[in-house]
Amino acid sequence: MGFGAAPLGGAYEPIDPVEAASAVRAAIDHGINFFDTSPYYGETLSETRLGDALLGTRDKVILCTKCGRYGLDSFDFSAARVASSIDESLKRLRTDHVDLLIAHDIEFGDREQVLTETIPALRRIQEAGKARFIGVSGLPLAVLADVARRGQVDFVLSYCHYNLMIEDLDQVLRPVTGNNVGLINASPLHMGMLTLAGPPAWHPAPEDVKQAAARVVQLCESRGVDVATLALRFCLDYPYASSTLVGMSNRAQVERNLKALEFIIDPDLLAEIGQITAPVKDKTWPSGVRQKNAQD
Ligand code: NAD
Repeated sequence: MGFGAAPLGGAYEPIDPVEAASAVRAAIDHGINFFDTSPYYGETLSETRLGDALLGTRDKVILCTKCGRYGLDSFDFSAARVASSIDESLKRLRTDHVDLLIAHDIEFGDREQVLTETIPALRRIQEAGKARFIGVSGLPLAVLADVARRGQVDFVLSYCHYNLMIEDLDQVLRPVTGNNVGLINASPLHMGMLTLAGPPAWHPAPEDVKQAAARVVQLCESRGVDVATLALRFCLDYPYASSTLVGMSNRAQVERNLKALEFIIDPDLLAEIGQITAPVKDKTWPSGVRQKNAQD
């Protein structure tokens, strides 16, 4: 289980920096050693907060950040920007290298530029010792599969494609990534949808998916089961992911999510959840720009 630091930048709600630091320390104390951030999250706030919170413990963790995405509509996958971006990230993260570096949300970039310019730039950063492994992230599986196949990255980060609401990661990406490419599965709560608080206002999922998720939350509530714990356990049981990344913003959430490690899913409850989600299963939403001559 990895710590997703998007919430540390206030992606879901404004958060208290002291509480954020306490969440990171609680995670490390309990053995969580994988942290994912990006300059995009809170327009660098997540990186700064994570860097501060990791002071003195950097060598105990696997640290991942990204480049290429800097705002809702701000992207730059050029080699020059990738090179300056990592140096800026390293300063904010107070370290001389990250373990993983990702080209962030590549479906918003030009595919050929990502393949011929961005990935080679990431490899140069790796050769310079500033990143140990390089990868790509994004929503549309066909894009990730294509770039993983042609770009020969070390790993892929996929989100909202394997959790209680959706399981198409299996059919599309796994056959491509195989054994030599790491697979990180992010957003086990479908970006907050599988929680009592429900999805944030900006959540891009279609309305019927949100309604089905709300029924799943109600069902779990009526059975006295914490929906987030069950949803996280479901993803932890997925054998093909190197890591499951869940976003966390405070110590209580870290402690609650750790309970998922011992939680056992009742198969009857899972079958009932399956009946609720069946009509919207594998329904996603569009993301990115259409490519010249694209098949996807
Ligand atoms: P998520 O599904 O992990 O949901 C996070 C939300 O659920 C946050 O609001 C969090 O505070 C809340 N939450 C967490 N545990 C809870 C609990 N036990 N009870 C109630 N609420 C709880 O979605 P996410 O944060 O978007 O995804 C996880 C991480 O994966 C991100 O933080 C980010 O690091 C990474 N990610 C990367 C990309 C990308 O590269 N394109 C996309 C999505 C996610």
